[in-house]
Amino acid sequence: LVSVRGLSKSFGDHLVFSDVDFDVPAGSVTAIIGPSGSGKSTMLRCLNRLEEPDTGEVVIAGTVYPAGRKPVDAARTLHADVGMVFQSFNLFPHLTALENVALALRRVRRLSRGEAAERARAGLAEVGLADRAGHRPSQLSGGQQQRVAIARALALEPRVLLLDEPTSALDPELRAEVLQVLRRLAGSGITMLVVTHEMRFAEQVAGDVLVMAEGRVIEHAPPARLFSAPQHERTRQFLKVVR
Ligand code: ATP
Ligand code: MG
Repeated sequence: LVSVRGLSKSFGDHLVFSDVDFDVPAGSVTAIIGPSGSGKSTMLRCLNRLEEPDTGEVVIAGTVYPAGRKPVDAARTLHADVGMVFQSFNLFPHLTALENVALALRRVRRLSRGEAAERARAGLAEVGLADRAGHRPSQLSGGQQQRVAIARALALEPRVLLLDEPTSALDPELRAEVLQVLRRLAGSGITMLVVTHEMRFAEQVAGDVLVMAEGRVIEHAPPARLFSAPQHERTRQFLKVVR
């Protein structure tokens, strides 16, 4: 469903990664792991074009998005196809949970106010927040805020959902509730690409794990193989530190 071909990205003279290739099959969960600064967030941002890659192309559901060009129509398709959940939730603080979800539906999907509210309510119920619809972010726990952000991304029915360390800003207890939502999602057939430091989550939920380091994807394998028999010395080092 997602194909990355020869993707490279630098900031000034700092090369983040070069000539990266990988595929994410439809309905699968791929975890991206790797040391800090290895370009995991930059990779996700290049997939949804919050950053412009220097070379290569990204193919999503058959639509090719080559580096270095940003036609408005393509940007619109991309926006509709790719959902994103950030470490820091990125909710609008002055809007309630319901309004945060509904706003995306009205702006992106052009739904009427009533229809958007109805869909938003259903989306919040799916992440276990039916009774928090009227709360503002400041009145919600971190885990609840992240579940609102997940509901907001899902409400737009993206073909692929990108998540950048969705549990890193949370206390362990709150982490569990978000991971549970993600586990359930993974079983629902949605295509996900998750940057995570939760090795157990990667092990249990991901079909494939990508290891980014040294400006490349150094390893790409199912978790059972990757965690038991890493091929690359850098992967072994990394896993020793994080597990
Ligand atoms: P972490 O695990 O700490 O989140 P990461 O793997 O997500 O790390 P990135 O955030 O993708 O790493 O950053 C990769 C490299 O690119 C880092 O060296 C970072 O300093 C640099 N970088 C990221 N964004 C920018 C930017 N907008 N301008 C300049 N350099 C950047
Ligand atoms: Mg990051």
